Amino acid sequence: MSERLREKLNILADAAKYDVSCSSSGGNRKNDNKGLGNSHASGICHTYTEDGRCVSLLKILLTNHCIFDCAYCVSRKSNDITRAAFTVEEVVELTMNFYRRNYIEGLFLSSGIFKNADFTMERLLRIVKKLRLEERFNGYIHLKTIPGASEELIREAGMYADRMSINLEMPTESGLKLLAPEKTHQQVTQPLGFIKNQIVQFKEERKLIKSTPKFVSAGQSTQMVIGATPETDQEIMQTAALFYKDFSLKRVYYSGYIPISYDNRLPMIGSQPPLIRENRLYQTDWLMRFYGFHVNELLNDANPHLDIDIDPKLSWALRNLQHFPVDINVAAYKVILRIPGIGVTSAKKIVQARKFGKLRIDQLKKIGVAYNRAKHFIKCADSPYQLKDYQGSQIKAFIQAESQSKYLKYDTSQLILF
Ligand code: SF4
Repeated sequence: MSERLREKLNILADAAKYDVSCSSSGGNRKNDNKGLGNSHASGICHTYTEDGRCVSLLKILLTNHCIFDCAYCVSRKSNDITRAAFTVEEVVELTMNFYRRNYIEGLFLSSGIFKNADFTMERLLRIVKKLRLEERFNGYIHLKTIPGASEELIREAGMYADRMSINLEMPTESGLKLLAPEKTHQQVTQPLGFIKNQIVQFKEERKLIKSTPKFVSAGQSTQMVIGATPETDQEIMQTAALFYKDFSLKRVYYSGYIPISYDNRLPMIGSQPPLIRENRLYQTDWLMRFYGFHVNELLNDANPHLDIDIDPKLSWALRNLQHFPVDINVAAYKVILRIPGIGVTSAKKIVQARKFGKLRIDQLKKIGVAYNRAKHFIKCADSPYQLKDYQGSQIKAFIQAESQSKYLKYDTSQLILF
């Protein structure tokens, strides 16, 4: 690799690290054209930097030149930084070289906007097209859509990318106006809506004509910056819920703002990125997508912020003790899912196992239930615990005391999911 290319790579990989929306999940591109590589359901492994960000793919910007001046962004035009831009050929060459050496399992390609949206999008399109058609690259490709790019370019890019995403950036229009006055949410919702419709249309066509190509086969996602503007957790998750519903998103990513600007609209440089809050938002998102919770159950006018010191499922249970104790031996699967300390896998195992007899404490522990947590919310065949004896605040104190003694051993700032 030439010195100049190495230099560009340093600049443009560093600039891309602020974008967290880069996990694969769901791509199933098969190597059916005798090319190179294969991206399947769990095809991309992730590694994480110290602050928990995913860096597994070749994650780069095409350029960090930008005509816009979004206050939260390191590539904004007013920022005095070293600028660089790859050529189309350079990105293709880097991707193929890294892929052949097994350094990466795919490409995550984003970009600042130079000249205008179409000028930039057209280059992104040329890269993915060249990779797929000339290099026969079958690895995973996540492509950022440039807001304002024409539908023809977006549509063509969608035939070659596994996933496309476009960042909402700030959870509310007012937050966006504050930090990026030139942008609107509509510039994001329009392409998201277009891609969603194209996904549906291509799927329908494939039912009739088998040779119809796949379109954005791993779906689309978005990202919100958290903590740069004063939105509540309730506002953030309501926006996420709406976007999941309206645009059939695969994922919403929450990126804790890392202070990078001396700007009185933003948190001061040196203040801590909201990593625990970010983690709690991911947990809430998980509860909405896999546990059947409605956003209003977890966050509402009475509770607009997530508990920082306990996870959102436990927090909900403590505020809703009238639903407990749940009799593990008779309750419906969906009810069992709502018990703190019981995840999807253990809930399924419980429903299976109880067909063969009443479940007891030992069996629940073997199944994988976090019994020390769950015991405050369940009844089983030999359950000694009387929930009515305690208030929510007391149960919270018991659980925290136990989990503190458990986690004190580990020197970690990254939280577990549940
Ligand atoms: S348009 Fe994108 S790259 Fe440009 S300043 Fe705004 S967020 Fe940064």
